[in-house]
Amino acid sequence: MNVLWVSAEATPFAKVGGLADVVGALPIALRRLGVDTRIIMPRYERLAGQPSLELVLPDVVVTTGRGQEHCRVLRGALPNSDVPVYFIENTAYLSRGSIYNEHGTDDPFDELARFLFFSLAVSEVVPLLGWEPDLVHCHDWHTGLVSTLLASRGVAATTIFTVHNLAHQGVWNAGEALSFLKLAESAGPHLAVRDGRGDLNLLQQGILASTYINTVSPQYAREILTPELGQGLDSSLRQRQDRLIGILNGIDTASYDPSRDPHLRIRYTAADVDRKAENKLALHEQCGFPPDPAVPTFGFIGRLTEQKGIDLIIQHSTMMLRSGARLIWLGTGLDAYEDLIRKLARERPRQVYARIDFDEAFARSIYAGSDLFLMPSVFEPCGLGQMIAMRYGTPPVVHATGGLKDTVIDADAEPNRGLGFTFDSFTPNAFAEAVARALRRYRNPRSWRELINRCMAQDFSWDRSARAYLTLYERARKNL
Ligand code: ADP
Repeated sequence: MNVLWVSAEATPFAKVGGLADVVGALPIALRRLGVDTRIIMPRYERLAGQPSLELVLPDVVVTTGRGQEHCRVLRGALPNSDVPVYFIENTAYLSRGSIYNEHGTDDPFDELARFLFFSLAVSEVVPLLGWEPDLVHCHDWHTGLVSTLLASRGVAATTIFTVHNLAHQGVWNAGEALSFLKLAESAGPHLAVRDGRGDLNLLQQGILASTYINTVSPQYAREILTPELGQGLDSSLRQRQDRLIGILNGIDTASYDPSRDPHLRIRYTAADVDRKAENKLALHEQCGFPPDPAVPTFGFIGRLTEQKGIDLIIQHSTMMLRSGARLIWLGTGLDAYEDLIRKLARERPRQVYARIDFDEAFARSIYAGSDLFLMPSVFEPCGLGQMIAMRYGTPPVVHATGGLKDTVIDADAEPNRGLGFTFDSFTPNAFAEAVARALRRYRNPRSWRELINRCMAQDFSWDRSARAYLTLYERARKNL
């Protein structure tokens, strides 16, 4: 099966968030299952990873409502893999500046024009590649119109649309968008669908026009059908409910591996998990705490935004710290949260440490050195932090929502299968109750050890996700 992935991001070339990690990893796992997976993305001015590129199409003409443009297509590959990556190069729209909002223009619609241009260019390039995809797999709002554009050019591709983040939708005045695309409303069965302001919503287009839609966890796929979590698109999603599924993301289990991670003081496996304690002492030292193997240590890593449930942790911190526990923060985000967290660390320097930064090495020290990982997100499409924490033998405390609910089984509700501590209602009391249960378990070494071992035995590899995507591809191709 030939599958073309269309994306704005791919690790290591261009990364802003989780989308890049999925696109940089899952195609490799799909290739291992025999799917000829290739990627097409813009050639931004600054590409990380310095790929060596081969010119495959010297001149492709793309016509927009603003005039004719010329593109070149170059081919590279994902590092250490045989996954081909086609880069579309075009000076006017794509190959300038960085990925989003950093292009030094005052035009608020410039970003929309760039990705509509990318989508147009993809629809022109696909028939010229000399390699025919059986299925086109698009990601997030940037590629929401690819399905419609391919169909308007007579390429009747089976399409999958993955929603990584329902919060970003790509909305432009419908008249302007369609005239930029030189597309009539009649070109796509769904183009007439607008929100109340006469806008075209690109994410909604992807949802309505693709053969199948998926999100990055089964629970989140159910939650977005509700007005509470549907971000205004719940009714479109309900319309496609029979074609909407959830597939959990994986993590890079080779990189996130406590037995090989070069950032750790002592590497360990489930068999010698006592050595994890050495990393706890190292973490205490890094935070300027007196090293103490007995005192429970909580870690938080993530964007400091409302989504991540930081309010609950802050509200409950006095209680948590009363028993002598320690709390380590790593993140950047909203000024108000950064200030609150810094203040907490100033007030309790022997118990609270805050690093307001993006720091991969320190993140790994926290995953390995903490006893418990806090992730009480308000909502969570999938979440990687909880999976990484479990891989390092650090049970998570999570709000039972989205991908957190799918990946963390409560240790008290299911003593033989539990992996962490979950709470249902997003309230300080419910969070406090889950933390108290976690601490009770922590004080029982035998049962704690069992919990850690179960966490470390989980399979969070991309291979598991790849198998689920392959099943979806087969279903979509048969149009089942
Ligand atoms: P989201 O995609 O919503 O930000 P995820 O849990 O899916 O949240 O992924 C976050 C990823 O980014 C994890 O790998 C986490 O370790 C990493 N991360 C987040 N903040 C930081 C930070 N300040 N420093 C280092 N790594 C971070």
